[in-house]
Amino acid sequence: MTASPPRVAIVGTGVIGAMAAWQLAARGAEVLAFDRYGRGHDRGASAGESRIFRTVYKEGGSYVPLLRRAGELWRELERAAGRALLTMCGGLTIGAPDEPDLRAVRRCAEEAGLPHQILDRTGAAERFPQHRLDPGEIAFLDPNAGVLRPEPSVQGALAVAEAAGARILSYTGVEDLEETSAGWRLRAGGQTHAVDHLVLTPGPWAATLGPLAAIPVEARLITACWFAAREVAAHRPDRLPIAIRRHPEAGFSCFPALDGVAVKIVPHHLGWPVIDSPADLPRSATPEFAQAASAAVARLLPGLIPQPVRIGTYAEGFTPDEHAAVGPVPGAANATVLTGFSGHGFKLAPVFGEIAADLVLRGKTEHDIAALDPRRLSRNSQRSTRSS
Ligand SMILES: Cc1cc2nc3c(=O)[nH]c(=O)nc-3n(C[C@H](O)[C@H](O)[C@H](O)COP(=O)(O)OP(=O)(O)OC[C@H]3O[C@@H](n4cnc5c(N)ncnc54)[C@H](O)[C@@H]3O)c2cc1C
Repeated sequence: MTASPPRVAIVGTGVIGAMAAWQLAARGAEVLAFDRYGRGHDRGASAGESRIFRTVYKEGGSYVPLLRRAGELWRELERAAGRALLTMCGGLTIGAPDEPDLRAVRRCAEEAGLPHQILDRTGAAERFPQHRLDPGEIAFLDPNAGVLRPEPSVQGALAVAEAAGARILSYTGVEDLEETSAGWRLRAGGQTHAVDHLVLTPGPWAATLGPLAAIPVEARLITACWFAAREVAAHRPDRLPIAIRRHPEAGFSCFPALDGVAVKIVPHHLGWPVIDSPADLPRSATPEFAQAASAAVARLLPGLIPQPVRIGTYAEGFTPDEHAAVGPVPGAANATVLTGFSGHGFKLAPVFGEIAADLVLRGKTEHDIAALDPRRLSRNSQRSTRSS
């Protein structure tokens, strides 16, 4: 007699839940995936036209194997979904040579033996005149970097999961979760479902789920602004890499024009404030924020018209140490959590989907995720606000 496939409920189909649904369904689990909103919606962390993929990782060389595997899985998903999701356009980190992120990418590239180039101010001006560098600043080029399309990625992963048998229940918020002797019972959309295993991928909504009470995840507001390019051709991905710009007055992440009109920046230097709940997300920026973003563009991106043509606001879940919580839910059985990706989880999402499937189906994974163990967070209280 063959055992019946495990029934797995996924709570949240942002990019992490969507990838978990894909990987679990592809490996034979009976998947029920719930989300309060629609596929690829813009209220959480997984929307806004573009996301950075990079391989030289300022957050630490221990991520490099995960990034390599994520890169392979992005291509696999593109094939399965029949959509282009990742465009390799290279990635710049720009700033003073002793700026912490510049030091971190150099260290990571050297330690992991990753290809890279360092351009001085003159070299950067010749090759990437879209960026204005101050005297003494440098540009670090990671050739294995690119730009991802978030909404098609989420929708593509869910479509592939569905084709493999997953049930995707959009506009169906999970209202109640109860551990039972056989697994979990959950209430959603007026119905009760019994499953063997729970995968919690609620992003910035983590604090609203009872079983995650011990894991400190703050919801923060991240605002993106789009600026029209004077000459769009010079700002498309074939000429403009993604960039992380460090500057004392005007730091931001910068994304090439994908819509044929505008370059996106996500300002860092204005802070990413904590919000009480993603449900309270403001739908635009204050005039003061827009003016400060304009000033950053006028100072450092001379090819853009420095008034935003579009502004988008998003919520993201941050842990105190700005590394995700990935692993068994502390104090519960048959439950796995993946949350708190702290502004840098998108590029890694497919490998976290694979890890979720490993943990549910095999109780272990070969990927090294010891540093992401949710149990570490109750002991850690350091805070800051950056990334991408
Ligand atoms: C503006 C911005 C720019 C970023 N830039 C980059 C970048 O360039 N590169 C990079 O790698 N990362 C980047 N990140 C980070 C990355 O996008 C996130 O880490 C990632 O999207 C997190 O996905 P998630 O699935 O955890 O969260 P979400 O996408 O927020 O998904 C959580 C889902 O859970 C659902 N949910 C919650 N509670 C319930 C419930 N009770 N019932 C049903 N559904 C529920 C929500 O509706 C939501 O859809 C950025 C983030 C933001 C916000």
